[in-house]
Amino acid sequence: MSVRISQAYCHRGLVFGLAALVVISTAALTSGAFFEPGEDGDKSIEVDAIFSPGGGCQERIADEIAGAEKTLRIQAFYFTSKPITEAVVKAKKRGVSVTVVLDKSQEKMTYGSWRILKREGVPVYFDSKHATANNKVILIDDHTIITGSYNFTKAAEEKNAENVVIIKHADEVFEKFEKNFALHLKHSKKYSG
Ligand SMILES: [Zn+2]
Repeated sequence: MSVRISQAYCHRGLVFGLAALVVISTAALTSGAFFEPGEDGDKSIEVDAIFSPGGGCQERIADEIAGAEKTLRIQAFYFTSKPITEAVVKAKKRGVSVTVVLDKSQEKMTYGSWRILKREGVPVYFDSKHATANNKVILIDDHTIITGSYNFTKAAEEKNAENVVIIKHADEVFEKFEKNFALHLKHSKKYSG
């Protein structure tokens, strides 16, 4: 008898437990407590981390840029990496809209990548609003964020200890980066030389 009773309680407990799980899960999803996929519904969030030296950051960034279809928004302190510059030039030539915002100190750099990009018709802006405009961010189309400590330079690839984080299809986080890019772009000065 006692066994039958406890079995009944067990069943009831299981049903209540499952019901509670469904309610909690539904509430969590509707309140945005979990990461949600992109608006198109079929793109899961992807996050990856790469490290230098020796991790292939430069090559990976160039590969991601090669996949750009509409827009490239680039914020950097230093930008001198040849492979990354070449990838951006190729993107520009295939019709991708490119915008570059750099720290004010870069305007004086004789060999800055921005001079090559400028010749290709890329609008280049310098941000003098801060002690250091130290963001390293590349926004690709409306879905990919590349960020981290990594400057787009040869030294960052070969000599420094750096990290790159690549985040795809995290819509809410992408919007934050997009807004922050717009903020800096607004108070930056367009190079007109
Ligand atoms: Zn700024």
